[in-house]
Amino acid sequence: MENLDKEYVLHTYNREYINFVKGKNATLFDENNIDYIDFTSGIGVVSVGHGNERVAEVICNQAKNILHISNLFYIEPQAKLAEKIVKASGIDGRVFFANSGAEANEGALKIARKYGEKNGKIDKYKIITIENSFHGRTISTLKATGQEKMHLSYFGPYPDGFIYAKNIDDIYNKIDEKTVAVMIELIQGEGGVTPFDKNEIQKLASILKEKDILLIVDEVQTGIYRTGEFLASNVYEIEPDIITMAKGLGGGVPIGAVFTKHKDILSAGEHGSTFGGNYLVTATAMEVLDILQEYKDSGELDDNFIYFESRLKEIAEEFNELFSGVSGFGMMRALRAKNAEIQSEVIKKAFENRLLLLKAGNNAVRMLPPITISKDEMEVGFKRLKKALEEI
Ligand code: PLP
Repeated sequence: MENLDKEYVLHTYNREYINFVKGKNATLFDENNIDYIDFTSGIGVVSVGHGNERVAEVICNQAKNILHISNLFYIEPQAKLAEKIVKASGIDGRVFFANSGAEANEGALKIARKYGEKNGKIDKYKIITIENSFHGRTISTLKATGQEKMHLSYFGPYPDGFIYAKNIDDIYNKIDEKTVAVMIELIQGEGGVTPFDKNEIQKLASILKEKDILLIVDEVQTGIYRTGEFLASNVYEIEPDIITMAKGLGGGVPIGAVFTKHKDILSAGEHGSTFGGNYLVTATAMEVLDILQEYKDSGELDDNFIYFESRLKEIAEEFNELFSGVSGFGMMRALRAKNAEIQSEVIKKAFENRLLLLKAGNNAVRMLPPITISKDEMEVGFKRLKKALEEI
């Protein structure tokens, strides 16, 4: 497998050579039927677990009927999914469907730029993002990403108008008469599982509203019940102008969505996508949202979050020579390693002990398990983690 991959696939990832062939909830099995506990859910994607029967049935039934017809025709599950997203968010608005997080963010940037247009002229166009943020890999979302090391010169020239603030407070210093939007993650994910303070965010939302500057919240990682509510914006009790989603929304099928309160901002022909919101992905996402909503309503979601957090805190305390603490909400968590070397070693040793973990920033050992992970799977996962840490 290694040879084939190395020969024919562009080398853009440092990947582990393991051949997973099946999965059940938070457990993956390799070709020799060896089990691994998955605390990554494919980087926050497989929200309802691997091999989910309900999702599989919807996909099979949909495939037997229509997978795709294009956005030139009405797509019933797309309209129903948009309604579900609007109602679950509790914010009145409309939704555009894309295929990934970066594409959802591209849509958000276009909406913001259109908002900055007055009488046919570009009036406001600057978008402020935060240092250490991550918004995607397309040319403009890469430039929106507040990590200079990622703005490699050979990918340039990049689009103009992205300004970086050091933190939430610094946003106010960076605003000028050309600022059209501020784009943030409420919990920086790739940057290191770093949540912003709720009061600071609420203050920011109200100041931006006063100044007629849009607030874009990138919920590609935090959205879809990952932090306890449908959106982290619900946890922070804010109503952003634009919210982007992807990852957990499709439970594994590629879907992105940009939601905006500015319902008539775009006209026909100004934005589009061939695949965006087709039958396959929107029918699947409807089922994913139903499963997660039921899970939340039953109280199991909150129970599991509390359990996961308490087990994680125990580990952080027991191994306080390796970790300075924990961070995150819900099923978006991290152990804060004391340095980058420890961070790498923990992930490596956990893998050897059949537990999958993720890196984020330069010291976070990140955990994004399926939201439906069972208590038994958590137990096995933490047992393996403990063994891995004892070996360090
Ligand atoms: N925004 C955030 C907050 C993300 O975490 C990611 C991916 O990790 C993206 C955008 C990009 O999403 P995608 O890889 O689906 O394009």
